[in-house]
Amino acid sequence: MRHRNLLLLGTPIVLPPGKPVALILRQAVASGQKLWHPPVMPHRLTYSGRPLDRAALNRQDAAWLQAHLGAPNLRLLAVWQDQSLITANAGDTDPEPAFISGDAAREMIASAAHYSAPMFLGLQGSIPIFAIDLSALTESDAATLVATAGGVSANFVDIRSVGGLMPQQDGSILAYARGLSYWHRRHEFCGACGWVTTSKHGGHVRHCTNPGCGIEHFPRTDPAVIMLVTATFDSEPHCLLGRQASWAPGMYSSLAGFVEPGESLETAVAREVMEEAAIDITDVEYRASQPWPFPSSLMLGFRARATTFDIDVGNDELEEAQWFSLSEICDLSAADRDDRRLSRRDSIARWLIEDWMHDALNA
Ligand SMILES: [Zn+2]
Repeated sequence: MRHRNLLLLGTPIVLPPGKPVALILRQAVASGQKLWHPPVMPHRLTYSGRPLDRAALNRQDAAWLQAHLGAPNLRLLAVWQDQSLITANAGDTDPEPAFISGDAAREMIASAAHYSAPMFLGLQGSIPIFAIDLSALTESDAATLVATAGGVSANFVDIRSVGGLMPQQDGSILAYARGLSYWHRRHEFCGACGWVTTSKHGGHVRHCTNPGCGIEHFPRTDPAVIMLVTATFDSEPHCLLGRQASWAPGMYSSLAGFVEPGESLETAVAREVMEEAAIDITDVEYRASQPWPFPSSLMLGFRARATTFDIDVGNDELEEAQWFSLSEICDLSAADRDDRRLSRRDSIARWLIEDWMHDALNA
């Protein structure tokens, strides 16, 4: 017999294998009990939150920035090629950003001055948080600089492999630093005239150095819609999930795609669902958004209701798409199966699925 860590107002219940979780929970709700069970409540949205005061007006003041770069409590995050500096001794279950502090941070910034300008991320209380991009170095040289000048024992890691394990504010700051660094690396030259650009306003503007151009470039975010399409048939709520051939075996997620020029968000949702699964939808409802600077997206999460039900993935955007019943979603939310699983817990796709599951169970 398997315990699935479900509580009804603090009372543990034991779920026998094979019995749909949704049925048990709906029976409990029908009997008047209110649900409290971690696997069903939508989890926090990783990389979101408001961990820093970005001080958007103050960062335009060079003297103000310089004063904060000289602060005793200065903290610095190093980025290398889309990887973030994570403490080496934290272990797989407790990763932490490896901040470099005070004079060591200033030494790092000085040694990197000829290829990277410090980026001001914001204030955490009174602590100024900056980032620096070491991508111009080899990985070995970047690691050596961090160990010698920075004085920390740490590794460069893809934040997506650890973001879901750390406090929301840490993941948010690391993702922010990674996204801003990516933008700088790809805007060293003016897109209008081709001249060199330079960083200003603490890394939130790049200025074209051509006197005849002088355009200011701002960090870009690409809007993408992600939507959970729902329907009720066979007396049970269902949702539409798909998978791309390149994904991990058995992983299914909500449909998604980039917003195109001239489209509203609602139009983009309907177009993507039609393109990927040949399903018509209506009642597009905004649910939440998530920064996704991997490399430069903002995920805008929606729920929509299907008006047609026959899936066709013939245009090859998806390898497969299926209707999943509420019961199956409840089971997959509680535990992966050998042959199928839901999208990663740090994604808004997973959040949208569990947000719908929570509402459907409590409807
Ligand atoms: Zn220019």
